[in-house]
Amino acid sequence: MFKNIRILILLCILLIVAVNAFDDKNHNWQKATYVYLFPINMDNDDKVQTYINTLNEKEFAQINDYIKEQAKRYHQSVTIYYRFGEQVKEIPPAVPRNGGIMDAIIWSLKFRYYHFKHKPDTPFKPDLTLYLQYHSPNKHILTETSTALQNGRIGVVNLFGTDKKTANNNVVIAHESLHGFGATDKYDLKTGIPLYPQGYANPSQNPVLPQKQAELMAVHIPISQDKFEMARELKQTVVGELTAKEIGWIKK
Ligand SMILES: [Zn+2]
Repeated sequence: MFKNIRILILLCILLIVAVNAFDDKNHNWQKATYVYLFPINMDNDDKVQTYINTLNEKEFAQINDYIKEQAKRYHQSVTIYYRFGEQVKEIPPAVPRNGGIMDAIIWSLKFRYYHFKHKPDTPFKPDLTLYLQYHSPNKHILTETSTALQNGRIGVVNLFGTDKKTANNNVVIAHESLHGFGATDKYDLKTGIPLYPQGYANPSQNPVLPQKQAELMAVHIPISQDKFEMARELKQTVVGELTAKEIGWIKK
């Protein structure tokens, strides 16, 4: 009985998604854009909780400024606000790793249902909602996958809950934000190597390597043919031309 109801709810969500899919495709940058960030303490860790308690909108203002500045390079005047919302207790469904297309569809439905049930109230209608999954820095490596759905404008972002990582976390949040507005990754998904030319901050530089910055959707700065470094702060990244086209800052 309950299983049938759940399937029915999922099918309804699928229908709503299908109807809204077209409408969601192009974000209107002419109006003010609200990105809501909801933190989650993934490991129930006291130190991570202390970190979350210290966070406020000031930490994310850097992303606001960055997006505005990057849009300006493409002659777009963007008004964007990153709002830091209340903490969410319930953890979103885990993103499948190395799963097939069916796993991805099922996860996306489960995640939409989770969002529908757990999203906190907001004073403005969010254009994008990101659940910030803060992990304990003791983990060293994050194996969880971050994902943002363009259709539905929701995402999960995996971050370390320590102030040492705040600048780096902002790179990851900006990257996932642009996924939410339609940008694709600009690196080889198997090796992580930035793709040329679209994954290079300055593809026309001569010689082309080493690059000084990273393209935001490639996240890494290409140093040599097989060496690349993760961008540690937003200052080390730019939004490239293809990304600007995908999110609608340049007319296609
Ligand atoms: Zn990505």
